[in-house]
Amino acid sequence: MYQSTLLSTYAERVIHGFTGKPITLGGPSYPAEEVRENRLALCRHAGLDDSRLTVPRQTHTDRFRTNDIPCEEDADAVILTEPGIPALVQVADCVPLILYDSQQHIGAVIHAGWRGTAQAITQKVVQTLIEQHGARPETLHTVIGPSIGGCCYEVSPEVAAEVAKTVPNQPEDVYQIIQPNGKPRIDLKQVNRLQLAGLGIIHIEVLTACTGCQPEHLWSYRRGENGRQVAFLQLK
Ligand SMILES: [Zn+2]
Repeated sequence: MYQSTLLSTYAERVIHGFTGKPITLGGPSYPAEEVRENRLALCRHAGLDDSRLTVPRQTHTDRFRTNDIPCEEDADAVILTEPGIPALVQVADCVPLILYDSQQHIGAVIHAGWRGTAQAITQKVVQTLIEQHGARPETLHTVIGPSIGGCCYEVSPEVAAEVAKTVPNQPEDVYQIIQPNGKPRIDLKQVNRLQLAGLGIIHIEVLTACTGCQPEHLWSYRRGENGRQVAFLQLK
């Protein structure tokens, strides 16, 4: 289990975490019963209310929902404005984010792969938290979780260009590395960090663990694995 230093400060107000191996909390090739049992075990371990567990069906879009129970519908982020509802997003290389506004006591979990990042899902969720729910950039605490790093994420030039559009005023070398083979590697965590910073967010924590570099600790879709880790949040 990976925890945020930033959010651990608010341990009396939120339950949060990022899981890793050996258990899987999703994945198409695992029996549904095994996944369900593992999720129940996580709820018991972390103190989440399993009867209200919200798990959206992720489709690599910029769609998000608010407080849905159960959230079986398509969405790649869940905004929480009510205490007692645990929400999780599943990842295996994609970037998981957990957000918490300490002033309004609201938060969100986000799944941002390259498609979601290119559609700026993180910025859209933050803008909604600010404009519709009263969050403020200076009280919004944001954590970028374990995911594939710039060290390992080789993509096509087209994908790099799509993602780069979301941070137009940043030098390319901040998030993109051109390798000797001419193919770019991109740093999705960095792009999401820049998206957050671009909205005036001050509190941004980036967990450095890379799914590509740490096969013993984290699931990786690119490595051909079917397991999934999750980011979860429940407001107390
Ligand atoms: Zn790596």
